[in-house]
Order: sequence, then C-alpha cells, then structure tokens
Amino acid sequence: MPVTIDKDACIGCGACVGVCPVGALSMDGDGKSACDEGTCIDCGSCVGTCPVSAISQ
Ligand code: SF4
Ligand code: SF4
Repeated sequence: MPVTIDKDACIGCGACVGVCPVGALSMDGDGKSACDEGTCIDCGSCVGTCPVSAISQ
C-alpha cells in the first residue's frame, strides 16, 4: 500500500520529497505533496520526516 497524504495537514515544506529513495513524492499544483502510488515501495522513510505528521502508512 502506498502512503496516504493528508492534503489539509500538509504545509508544503517539501521535506518528504527529498527523502524518498524511489522518487515517488512530488509537489502537486497546489503546493502539497503527492505520492505516485505505482512507484512507492512503502519503505516508510517519509512518514517520520513530515513535521506535521501528514503522511500515514
Ligand atoms: S513510503 Fe518510501 S517509497 Fe513510499 S513515498 Fe514514502 S519514502 Fe517514498
Ligand atoms: S513533509 Fe509533510 S508537510 Fe512537508 S511537503 Fe511532505 S507531506 Fe507536506
């Protein structure tokens, strides 16, 4: 299962994008993080990186 991003909670800091080892995360047009479900390998690295706990696994 790919991670779930709470778009309302995301503050658009971009921290999660840099830690993803497979490049599954990017910033969408609204400045929020988006996860490419087909790319995410569910490693969990991004979950603890988010300062507002917007990413859940
Ligand atoms: S769980 Fe891992 S692979 Fe999936 S988006 Fe987060 S850092 Fe990337
Ligand atoms: S680390 Fe959290 S707040 Fe920052 S862009 Fe990613 S999901 Fe949004």
